[in-house]
Amino acid sequence: MKISFYGGVGKVTGSNFLVEGTKGKILVDCGIEQGRDFSEASAHAPFQYEVKKIDALVLTHAHLDHVGRIPKLVKDGFAGKIYMTPPTRDLAELILRDSVGILGEEAVRRGVLPLYEEKDVETTLLLIETLEYHTEKEIAPGLSCYLRNTGHILGSASVRIKDEEGTAIALTGDIGNSPSPLLPDWEPVPDADALVMESVYGDRLHPAQQRRVELLRDTLKKAIARGGTILIPAFSLERTQLMLYELSNFFDAGELPKIPVFLDSPLAIKITAVYEKWGMTYFKPETEDEMKREGSIFEFPFLKKTLARSESVEIEKTPSPKIIIAGAGMSHGGRIGRWEARYLPDASTTLIIAGYQAPGSPGRRMAEGASNVRLGGNKVKVRAKVEILEGWSAHADRDELLKFAEASLSSPPADGRTKVIFTAMGEPSAERFLAQRIHDYLGARAIVPEFGQTWEITKNVVTLVRAH
Ligand SMILES: [Zn+2]
Repeated sequence: MKISFYGGVGKVTGSNFLVEGTKGKILVDCGIEQGRDFSEASAHAPFQYEVKKIDALVLTHAHLDHVGRIPKLVKDGFAGKIYMTPPTRDLAELILRDSVGILGEEAVRRGVLPLYEEKDVETTLLLIETLEYHTEKEIAPGLSCYLRNTGHILGSASVRIKDEEGTAIALTGDIGNSPSPLLPDWEPVPDADALVMESVYGDRLHPAQQRRVELLRDTLKKAIARGGTILIPAFSLERTQLMLYELSNFFDAGELPKIPVFLDSPLAIKITAVYEKWGMTYFKPETEDEMKREGSIFEFPFLKKTLARSESVEIEKTPSPKIIIAGAGMSHGGRIGRWEARYLPDASTTLIIAGYQAPGSPGRRMAEGASNVRLGGNKVKVRAKVEILEGWSAHADRDELLKFAEASLSSPPADGRTKVIFTAMGEPSAERFLAQRIHDYLGARAIVPEFGQTWEITKNVVTLVRAH
């Protein structure tokens, strides 16, 4: 079998890998590269392989950096099936539909044609076939696929591809920051000859999970006491649902005064509905029990979801203190910009930043203490208190990644195959750091692949067969 690295190498985003057997070809992920902009110009470059010869595509999860180029792949002639878990299907549909508008605006600004349009997304959706965790299925000539939970976001999966002789290559996609309050812990991948692992936080540690909930509660308590509006720029997928879940717990337990909360993001509202739909089958057992007992775990009596713009503008009429959760997460678009322009000049406002802010984004400027910020073309004065909350990442940190590698290496198959781990989907330093630790602590072979490389995997030998 062969594995080629066409994206997510030396970079966190743009995941795209090609697995080949003697007869079949399977792509894993087809994501967009993201940085300062929603999509990097590289998204428009031609694919590095013959798109029409690919038999199938498998998705690890619905984040845009894993799915964002699929409509272009389809536009360029891919006509095979696209496999993913049922929740990933629903989430990918929302994410892709949402991206059409943003990509369109970006294309106008750059004076280029959009990467894809609504009709390409529609064609893409027709190719989807769902595959449950732990079900082996032949999806290309001579190649079967098997998915396992990775605990990253709802529906996230590692993908193991096996040929008829039993040689297997697996890819982790993103690995979760387990334990999560919602999702079961990640499962190791103990049956691959070669494993491609993510390494976003390959060289960094997160603060303890327990601590992040306390910090959120204490920060909200202080903010409510100040009497102003509390703004939370929202990452729509997973983090917003985690926040709603914790808010609902705080209010239930009487740990916070009951104040109005607005979820003012159409995408986050729709994604939350997908979480409600699949929670009973894909959350961890104790959370599923909680759903059975309480109905929704994301709802509470004074939460208002403002889907329509007409409802959104009404939020202003509700007196403070109130909480507004709105997209986008780095304050570079969406409805949060309007609320920031309205409330940041007010010293009683609290802005809560809970997630990675790209260099150059308004969120990053405010996190760094800027007293003015440019929002939608207007200069806005920041007199609000800016609070930064850590520990809300949905990625495993460096120790958790090493634990994943150890658990995956620790059950050698009976035939004693050689195992190798490729570290990918991280900044170069993180990929190298993780590879070094896998080598030093676990005594296993670890390789940092380069963009465009092809490696051949046989039972006992791993060989570089093509450099870019
Ligand atoms: Zn992800």
